[in-house]
Amino acid sequence: MPKIWIDGQFYAKEDAKLSVFDHGTLYGDGVFEGIRAYGGRIFRLRQHLDRLYASAHAILLNIWLSKDEMAAMTEECVRVNGLSDAYIRLVVTRGVGDLGLDPRKCPKATIFCIADHIQLWPAERYERGLSMITVPTPVNQHHGLPPQVKSLNYLAHILAKVEAIQAGADEALMLDLMGQVAEGSGQNIFAVTGRTLRTPGHEAGILRGVTRAAVMELAAEAGYDIHEQVLTRYDLYTADEVFLTGTAAEIAGIRQLDGRLIGGGSVGPVTKDLSARFRALIARGG
Ligand code: PMP
Repeated sequence: MPKIWIDGQFYAKEDAKLSVFDHGTLYGDGVFEGIRAYGGRIFRLRQHLDRLYASAHAILLNIWLSKDEMAAMTEECVRVNGLSDAYIRLVVTRGVGDLGLDPRKCPKATIFCIADHIQLWPAERYERGLSMITVPTPVNQHHGLPPQVKSLNYLAHILAKVEAIQAGADEALMLDLMGQVAEGSGQNIFAVTGRTLRTPGHEAGILRGVTRAAVMELAAEAGYDIHEQVLTRYDLYTADEVFLTGTAAEIAGIRQLDGRLIGGGSVGPVTKDLSARFRALIARGG
């Protein structure tokens, strides 16, 4: 039976409840992280916490746990649930207030942590490669809600996912307002040509992925060239390989985008090589 940590206490799943007056529920006013543990060790916890606290800072949300306390709590949550491999959801909301927007009515942030499992696609999809389609909903723009903030407002990305599902595709390709490639519904994207990797930089309105950073490190070690640059759909259509990275998705090859086969229409050798290197990184503790 999963045990969920809320504001200092563990609760059974059916008792793990938030107030309907929590501004996380009323307004999506909050921030979160999705984190994985492998073999009992949390993958790049510090980077996830840095992003969580930066997201909170950007929306003027005060987290009443220090980063060290948050790290210890997250580790305890995995341990208490008896999990070795886990997907962890860490959420901080503005807390309980009244029906107005004014966050001054929310004296204390709500913090909760769930340690569970996640699988975005069946193993067969990872082997064959995913189908992807460009969706109409763009990523958030820098002059609005900054795309780097991993906020509880995920509607743009949820709509993108819905649009992909309705079109019969596994995943969505989201663009920015200029029509430049940004990311998947919950993943960063890479194009491979020869031994060169290209991925959109932060100007494109991406969330700076922890997995993206890990893959870029691994690729650099392996002698690949890596460029953060503007990418168009044409660049993806004509790449040898396209793959996605994300905590939940891990590394997933794309076999088809908007009806065009990518490379040979299967998961390519560079994607496989980087996946193997990623597995090895996890095995040695991240
Ligand atoms: N973009 C978005 C919109 C996401 O939600 C995620 C998942 N957190 C990512 C990219 C990938 O980031 P990470 O590798 O840190 O999970």
